[in-house]
Amino acid sequence: GQVMQAILSARHIRKSYGAFVALRDISLDIPRGERHALIGPNGAGKSTFIACVAGQLSGVEGQMLFKDENVTALPPAALARRGIGRTFQISRAFLQMTVLENMMAAHVIASGQWASLSRRIYAERSGQACAMLETVGLADRARDRVADLSLGDRKRLEFGMALVGEPDLLLLDEPTAGMSIKERHALMEMVAARVDAEGRTLIFVEHDIDVVMKIAQRVTVMVRGAVLAAGTPSEIKANDEVQAVYLGG
Ligand code: ADP
Ligand code: MG
Repeated sequence: GQVMQAILSARHIRKSYGAFVALRDISLDIPRGERHALIGPNGAGKSTFIACVAGQLSGVEGQMLFKDENVTALPPAALARRGIGRTFQISRAFLQMTVLENMMAAHVIASGQWASLSRRIYAERSGQACAMLETVGLADRARDRVADLSLGDRKRLEFGMALVGEPDLLLLDEPTAGMSIKERHALMEMVAARVDAEGRTLIFVEHDIDVVMKIAQRVTVMVRGAVLAAGTPSEIKANDEVQAVYLGG
């Protein structure tokens, strides 16, 4: 049998936008607990693949197994309940709310307790929200509006809000986009530490190859909707085809 049990098995995934084939035949096994990077040039289909795994696209062909269950074509909420989580961008209305209020909202959404927040539940949720802010290093920004956060801090908040759902598999599509080199490393080191400490599995899309080398245990390289190569960061770095198509520019 397999040495490592796959938490996610994507088999022969195909997705077209009209006549355009964005994913040609993607098969990918992600072992439980792995930090896995998805890399490749713009338009390779990385975001499409992430959206497929999160259940956000219709018309996806192929099969998806998650924790040994066939979850093909399940809607996002059903996948979220089973433990597949992704970050969502904080919408404009929420930017005017404080960091703590946003984290509270994430807790309320994750717990499904919309209707009546009793005083006791409210106190419990705000305690949990504060603890999560501590975890992602934002405790001292709790009372600030999200609109006033730096990009790096906003990404920390989005990551923390995704963790509230306690996903077994966390999907991060370019979490460090727009950040300085220093911020990128800081965010992803924090993410890796949390993911490891809590026994989660991570798939992340990242353009900074140095960050990929440091954070990923395995890498899949996508080009034009297909997998070009998969392996450890050093295998990927040494792969001639990868160098020609991607790393070499
Ligand atoms: P990546 O994240 O690797 O840059 P994407 O998954 O975003 O790639 O896109 C893959 C290809 O699919 C691109 O050529 C893109 O233009 C196309 N594409 C993505 N989303 C849509 C859409 N909603 N409608 C039509 N084409 C799309
Ligand atoms: Mg993308």
